[in-house]
Amino acid sequence: MPVSDYLVTIGLEVHCQIKTATKMFCSCKAGFGYEPNTNVCPTCLGMPGAMPVLNEYAIERTILTGMMLGCSTPPVSKWDRKNYFYADMPKNYQTSQLDLPLCIGGEVPLYSWAFPADSKVKAEGAVVRTVKLDHIHLEEDAAKLTHYGTYSLVDYNRGGTPLMEIVSAPDLTSPDETYAYLKSLQQILVCGGISDADMEKGQMRCDVNVSLRPKGQKELGAKIEMKNINSMSAARRALIYEIARQAEELDMGIAQVQSTRRWDDDLGESIVMRTKENAHDYRYHTCPDLVPVHTASMVEKVKQEMPELPDARQKRLMEQYGLPVADANTLVADADLCSYFETAAGCSKSPRKVANWLINILPPILTARELDICDCPVTPATLAGLVDVVEEGICSTNQAREILEEDLWSGDEQDAAAAAAKRGYKKADSGALEALVEQVIAENPDKVALVKGGNMKLINALTGQVMKNSNPKPNPKLVTEILMAKLGL
Ligand code: ZN
Ligand code: MN
Repeated sequence: MPVSDYLVTIGLEVHCQIKTATKMFCSCKAGFGYEPNTNVCPTCLGMPGAMPVLNEYAIERTILTGMMLGCSTPPVSKWDRKNYFYADMPKNYQTSQLDLPLCIGGEVPLYSWAFPADSKVKAEGAVVRTVKLDHIHLEEDAAKLTHYGTYSLVDYNRGGTPLMEIVSAPDLTSPDETYAYLKSLQQILVCGGISDADMEKGQMRCDVNVSLRPKGQKELGAKIEMKNINSMSAARRALIYEIARQAEELDMGIAQVQSTRRWDDDLGESIVMRTKENAHDYRYHTCPDLVPVHTASMVEKVKQEMPELPDARQKRLMEQYGLPVADANTLVADADLCSYFETAAGCSKSPRKVANWLINILPPILTARELDICDCPVTPATLAGLVDVVEEGICSTNQAREILEEDLWSGDEQDAAAAAAKRGYKKADSGALEALVEQVIAENPDKVALVKGGNMKLINALTGQVMKNSNPKPNPKLVTEILMAKLGL
């Protein structure tokens, strides 16, 4: 039967590195880019007798994450040892949390702007739906292994750094939702200053599990897990593949077995690694070296740090600046662009036009120069000034684009109005402009008749004629307005 006859159930475990100065249980530096095995000590190397000390800041960041996602924080949380033997964990256990995690419940909103560009999901509102979370716990990251032909190298700098695990309920239903979940979650983590959550840098990594069952069947099918997927689009690809594979096998009567598979993004297929792996395989037990955490005072402290979440920001952008929903969505989808916009809009008389510049005109200019909005040499205030110059009818948008690229981009000139004046652009004397318009109308009776007859495309030809006869060049929009008025349209 077709894939659409199966119910797809997806759950996600997302590991996220928390931005902290030091590791989770010792005072070694956390962070990226240091000489391998230089940020280590007896505690994070698992030497016998070395005692852990809690990183309170990491605990607070986890509680804040939970707060942003509507989780509850139990008054007491505790630490457990997850035992396993592998070169990336010298203690032979990972300090984690099993049954009393820092955050319980909650949900991740799927933002409408977070779906893949070619997704069929289209929604007007900010939140398409919410996905239930099971819990969020805090643990330590393992060391980084790099595999070569016949040997592997291990870097213990990453070992023991704070790692938050966000575990969803089996509440996602499609690869597109999974993509949107990761993107929305990433946006919220960045918004709260919890993590840069860059999947390419491994700051956010995800394990995906997916099961299929025929429609009408109540119990979930066998759960197939794919570990360490390192991009949102890879998660989407992996799921599309895996759903089709499972459906095909189920069609042939091959029952699925709970197992872990590896997604090979280059080959575009998943390969089975091992079957059946359950919590009891890890012989979890309470960590005898760490006392439970009492969370009440931290919850109170963190409440003061609740940021404005992306959906609230989207709503405010529409209310405060009068932006249409599509513009607000586009801006809020990119936090840096959105901040640039808010600064510029604060300096401009026309926030809506500023948004238009930032969405449609500036990005291709930045892209051509391989720049990010953060590296844009034109300040928000200067750009706002330029937008106002156009709005005042001093020059056209195309002329303003030239001013932007030729005069303002170097940073030497920061006053858009002065740059426009230097080029000889000035607000057209309306009397002279009206005379020119009248002249063009008189010289083009055929076109005028057609425009009056409803051919609105020809209005541009008339506008162009006026532009050609004018010096300095007026704002073409203004010319069109005068033309329409004169023609009684
Ligand atoms: Zn250490
Ligand atoms: Mn984990």
